Amino acid sequence: MSLQQEIQKRRTFGIISHPDAGKTTLTEKLLLFGGAIQEAGAVKSNKIKKGATSDFMEIERQRGISVATSVLAFNYKEHKINILDTPGHKDFAEDTFRTLTAVDSVIVVIDVAKGVEEQTEKLVEVCRMRNIPMIVFINKLDREGKDAFDLLDEVEQKLGLKVTPLSFPIGIGYDFKGIYNIWEKNINLFSGDSRKNIEETIAFNDINSPELEKIISERSAANLRSDLELVYEVYPKFDREAYLNGEQQPVFFGSALNNFGVRELLDCFVEIAPSPRPKASEERIVNPDEPSFTGFVFKIHANMDPNHRDRLAFVKIVSGTFERNKPYLHTRLGKKLKFSSPNAFFAEKKEVVDISYAGDIVGLHDTGNFKIGDTLTEGEMLHFKGIPSFSPEHFRYINNADPLKSKQLEKGIDQLMDEGVAQLFKLDFNGRKVIGTVGALQYEVIQYRLEHEYGAKCSYENFPIYKACWVEAPENPKDPEYLDFLRVKQKFLARDKQNQLVFLADSAFSIEMVKQKYPNLKLHFTSEY
Ligand code: GDP
Repeated sequence: MSLQQEIQKRRTFGIISHPDAGKTTLTEKLLLFGGAIQEAGAVKSNKIKKGATSDFMEIERQRGISVATSVLAFNYKEHKINILDTPGHKDFAEDTFRTLTAVDSVIVVIDVAKGVEEQTEKLVEVCRMRNIPMIVFINKLDREGKDAFDLLDEVEQKLGLKVTPLSFPIGIGYDFKGIYNIWEKNINLFSGDSRKNIEETIAFNDINSPELEKIISERSAANLRSDLELVYEVYPKFDREAYLNGEQQPVFFGSALNNFGVRELLDCFVEIAPSPRPKASEERIVNPDEPSFTGFVFKIHANMDPNHRDRLAFVKIVSGTFERNKPYLHTRLGKKLKFSSPNAFFAEKKEVVDISYAGDIVGLHDTGNFKIGDTLTEGEMLHFKGIPSFSPEHFRYINNADPLKSKQLEKGIDQLMDEGVAQLFKLDFNGRKVIGTVGALQYEVIQYRLEHEYGAKCSYENFPIYKACWVEAPENPKDPEYLDFLRVKQKFLARDKQNQLVFLADSAFSIEMVKQKYPNLKLHFTSEY
């Protein structure tokens, strides 16, 4: 098979949802179709139980499971599918944002009863900003939920999407009869039995045919006809270009638990979802079918065994092929590295492989060379863009609690920050270190890992900061407005890991005041501007 064909058949995507909407269940059903697993229950849900914030076993368990399910790959109908795991728990949102830089499309799962929830909103916003193609799957149709049209409205309004349904439910909850597949023009009747043979689909090109009354009740048939009439009237026709450009989002309905509506989703997905897409680097746009290998690190996972402190760096291959034992250029360090045992991922297991293609993920054993965002090439000096840091939500000073172990502490903090566990800021005026995180849980993770992996102890001290704003330096470094800002706010200025200047604002009000007083000052809410 040519390089071109290998790349064309790849579909690398992420499933995003608010916890409990059914991401794990859907993932599992997709794997079943691929024949990648034999039974339900094989994919473990990697969400942290509510109220488990002090349970270190739970944290370790979470890390263990998430490495096992970081990438789930399987083959389906001539396609190679790579599902990238995206933690739903909000304390791990940074991790999910970074993973979204490595996907070519996403499926958004929404609970029919709960509708659009908070985490869905945040994640979809990131996808929208990056024009990532999205398919929406409305799940749990076997339960009582919201009216389909109301839900479609809600998705458009709350998520800012332009939807077009490609399937439509016949009834809902107790009354749920099945699904009309607009994409394939057929009807699938619901039996409530997840093992039911999916072959029982009834082709139905003409919805006005009197045959419809023979398979669903007169009332259901009438409702379906009028619903579909409304669908065709209100929603635009599916437009693949618009979908690929992130301008239109097809919607499917189903019940992941009952394996209902999942095959329809998957069949349409492999047909319309994009194969690996070109990616921008600081120097140029890189196309997937270029013969030379390029890729970037989007995730780093520490080894759970404290005796082997090597880590696994996850690299998304952007172009060409990645080959075992071939030297590649680490462009930030300017040195060539060889990898003797690159891992490829399959459902639930990883294996050493000789060759992987654009769109695939390889796991590289690392002893401290990689940071999130690093680029590898065959020799070209490239730097891929697009792994921004967002402002953390929590800020605390970190102090050394064991003066004899200050080296270990430094190293531990450094490596954990490279992994992207949290963000480190160093205050300009006194050099103190501040750790910023998305969720409070991270502080416990950091403290625990520093102690168990690096033999260092730390304590925290509250630092009531509202948001980190990245400050863009003006063209003229002597700009009086800028200098005045630096002087007045000196106690709130810090450097991030890239040595970029950050203003740690203590309230929304103080950001407003700064904006008013220094109208020309450029403040940004992500590190990438
Ligand atoms: P995640 O947190 O998004 O990964 O959600 P899970 O896949 O773990 O599902 C959360 C809960 O919803 C579990 O108890 C599932 O059994 C249940 N669930 C998932 N899909 C369906 C569905 O289609 N119908 C019903 N009734 N329950 C579902």
